[in-house]
Amino acid sequence: MVGLSTTIERRRMSAKCPCQNCNVHIEFEAAQAGQTVVCPKCGMDTLLFISPVQPTPAARPSPHPVFKKPMLTPLEGLRANTAYPGGRRVMNILFGASLIGAIIGIFGGVLSSGPAQGILIAVSIGSFISGWAAWEIANAIFDMADCALRRPATDGKKNPV
Ligand SMILES: [Zn+2]
Repeated sequence: MVGLSTTIERRRMSAKCPCQNCNVHIEFEAAQAGQTVVCPKCGMDTLLFISPVQPTPAARPSPHPVFKKPMLTPLEGLRANTAYPGGRRVMNILFGASLIGAIIGIFGGVLSSGPAQGILIAVSIGSFISGWAAWEIANAIFDMADCALRRPATDGKKNPV
């Protein structure tokens, strides 16, 4: 097993190619050439290939490609290409506001004295946790909505508009 390490190192050569839909540069491991992945920018499937102009002489597609996890998960591609950028932004702003509110509340609690101190800190922590939970739930709802929209769209360009 130890003797194989140099071969594995060589297969880890990184390469770049443009997305076939939006032209964004995608970095991947040379051994992944020939695989189809979801583009992080446009969310469409794109083929990974080794560009001939690249100065990576060792980056040839391996005759026995090692099956590796794509660098970008479908969820990341989905979120990057959301159909609800405004909704997701509002959700992030609300989460940021609740985070700031909780920090202010905790500071206020620390600086105050008497029974108000414990109550302020407890309420701040509680509101932060519930804000976080709401943010995760909202994320999941947007993910599901994006998934539902995506599924028919990836079937091809057969659909007339
Ligand atoms: Zn793309």
